[in-house]
Amino acid sequence: MIHIMEKKVYVLDSSAIIGGYNFKNLDNYTINEVISEIKDFKSELLLQSSIEDGQIKLEQPDREDLEKVNLVTRSSGDILRLSEVDKKVIALALKFKRKGINPVVITDDYTMQNTLKIVGIPYKSILTSGIEGILNWIKVCKGCKKRYPPEYKFEECEICGSRIFKKKIKKTI
Ligand SMILES: [Zn+2]
Repeated sequence: MIHIMEKKVYVLDSSAIIGGYNFKNLDNYTINEVISEIKDFKSELLLQSSIEDGQIKLEQPDREDLEKVNLVTRSSGDILRLSEVDKKVIALALKFKRKGINPVVITDDYTMQNTLKIVGIPYKSILTSGIEGILNWIKVCKGCKKRYPPEYKFEECEICGSRIFKKKIKKTI
């Protein structure tokens, strides 16, 4: 029997990039629209240089996979809580899977993780991806950028109702 190494790719959403995902030496992909979701200057610079260096590649999802995401999330009820960008990120992972490549989605977004569970695609949150030097976490609203303490237990912002993601903060010495 010939052993064939399985090809694995990582599909990133904006929370992965904002949260400080370490792209080095991995086969990373994201979609164009994620760029427009990134508002802070540092993350934007990091993303731009990672794309230029080829550490993150841009790829678009196919329509049939997007339709599958719509179908699945409509029945799970998550469709209203996912943005078009979120759905496209999941669809891109489905496209890789359909082509025999093993995708892992990097996201801190609970709704995305729930949908990925349903479609059978593994995911990792930044919190558990083993990045060195992570010392503290806060939660940040995707919409109005309000900060919440890590123990804040709701998934949605009390001000604007947008989803909240985890953000890595460096310990101040
Ligand atoms: Zn908010």
